[in-house]
Amino acid sequence: MALYGIYGRHEIDACPINNSKNRKMMTDIGHRDMKEVAPKYKINKIIGRFHSALEHTFLWIVDAEDPHLIQQLAIDGGVASFNEVKIVPLIEFENVVKMLEKMDN
Ligand SMILES: [Zn+2]
Repeated sequence: MALYGIYGRHEIDACPINNSKNRKMMTDIGHRDMKEVAPKYKINKIIGRFHSALEHTFLWIVDAEDPHLIQQLAIDGGVASFNEVKIVPLIEFENVVKMLEKMDN
C-alpha cells in the first residue's frame, strides 16, 4: 500500500462553477466508473475525494502503485488542463511515530 495525496488548485475563472467547458469535464469525470479506470493507472483504491469549492482546491487520496501513472491520469482525464496538480507521498501518523522512534537521540 502506498498512499498519495493529489492536491489541486485552479484560478477562479477556470473554476467549473464559472467555466462551462471545465464544468462538463468535471461532470463527465463524476459519472465515470472509476473501477474501470483505476486499474489502468495502478490505483488500488480511492480513499477519499475532497473539494473546497470557494478555495478552488481539492485533495484526493489514493492507494496507488506509481505516482507517474497518477500524473498520467491527471493529464488523460483533463484535470491537469486547468489545475495545478501536486502528487505527494503520504504516510499515516502512526507510521510517522514509528519512524521517529527508530531515529537516534
Ligand atoms: Zn473552483
